[in-house]
Amino acid sequence: MSQSFQVNSDPELWASLDMDVERFMNVPPMLTQAYMNIFMSQVNRPAVMAYFDEMVSNIFTGRIKEIVGAKAEGRPVIGTFCVYVPEEIIQAANGVCIGLCGGSQGSIADAEKILPRNICPMVKSAFGFKVGRICPFFQAVDFVYGETTCDAKKKTWELLDQYVPTHVMEIPQMKRERDLRLWIEEVKDFKKAIEEQVGKEISEDDLKKGIETLNAKRKAMQRLNRLRHHDPSPISGRDMLLIQQIAFYDIPERFTIKVHELCDELEDRIKLGNFAAAKGTPRVMVSGTPMALPNWKLHHIIEGAGAVVVNEESCIGTRYYKDTIDTDGLSMDGMLQQLTERYMKIDCSCFTPNDERIDQVVKEYRDSGAQGIIDYCLQFCHTYNIEAVKLREACSREKIPFMAIESDYSPEDVGQLQTRVEAFLEQIEG
Ligand code: SF4
Ligand code: SF4
Repeated sequence: MSQSFQVNSDPELWASLDMDVERFMNVPPMLTQAYMNIFMSQVNRPAVMAYFDEMVSNIFTGRIKEIVGAKAEGRPVIGTFCVYVPEEIIQAANGVCIGLCGGSQGSIADAEKILPRNICPMVKSAFGFKVGRICPFFQAVDFVYGETTCDAKKKTWELLDQYVPTHVMEIPQMKRERDLRLWIEEVKDFKKAIEEQVGKEISEDDLKKGIETLNAKRKAMQRLNRLRHHDPSPISGRDMLLIQQIAFYDIPERFTIKVHELCDELEDRIKLGNFAAAKGTPRVMVSGTPMALPNWKLHHIIEGAGAVVVNEESCIGTRYYKDTIDTDGLSMDGMLQQLTERYMKIDCSCFTPNDERIDQVVKEYRDSGAQGIIDYCLQFCHTYNIEAVKLREACSREKIPFMAIESDYSPEDVGQLQTRVEAFLEQIEG
């Protein structure tokens, strides 16, 4: 694998987006260093990973130029923070959907000048990116769509609206018939708002195509995840996490093609016995809160300790792609109904009760051939943290080795996490 990796810079482009260019100039070298250390240091990576490396190389340059180009064509560019915001509708309107969740420690201090310190780092990191003008994606979006999933998010949107137009979708907190009715109304309002932005109604055909594009992307991810479950695993957990993160930045059609190319390569590697981890390497599944780019901390620790991560039950993971939408013979209303029902299957811990998530975690554990589960909770995320109690009980009943950890983006707890992960791996190796 080439060692010439570099995250590229384009100060002129950033200045045109009203970024704090002087400050942001430090980011590409830091990201280059981290990426070299965590990704390029791996040996025998699949050749198609070069595409995803290139995506990271151009994440603040080439990809931003593509987005600016889309805006110039009159396409809306919409930032989101949750897999509940229906991407299919953005796609149907020929819009660009960008995931803006923050996974970096670098913007937390900006956020803490305004927000309380004791809230989730993902919310602080995203808010800090905008306040500090240190994220080209945030600077490029026309507006953002937040949601009412958790308290930290829904109150932050009120403040974020002072910096970028911020719309909010009301996500129900339960899954009864009346909650489904509320959610379908929200989905229809969302569609109307996007149509107003583009000045054109979304036709049945547009929506069908939007759904099919996202179905194809999700199915490609399902195929990839099934292949990675092979024992021994043909791809590392770090590379899989990266691909699942890039899913929120890349052009869906292009991303789908590349994921299938990677799947073809992994099938060949499996036939040839060419694996990322040797037979007998401890296999760990991670569940819990999402890991937004560049949050690679836990995977780096687990794989650095000699194990391989074989599944992510997470919104940057299976929760994003496990379900698709049937469009066969359906009218606009029928498709919106199917879309609404598909989204209500997302088992975020913000829902109560949420027992289907517990069952899903156990199912994914069995499907992935993991030997233990590490449940990852971002600090101050009360819903996932409390849900870990039920998860622990279920794992105890099912005799699944389980460990819950709570962490943030700072490097301070790395030593302590390494010790805990190593002890857990000893336990699952028996
Ligand atoms: S964990 Fe919940 S709030 Fe966060 S992205 Fe997933 S569905 Fe949305
Ligand atoms: S991880 Fe938890 S607290 Fe953080 S944004 Fe997601 S749901 Fe909210």
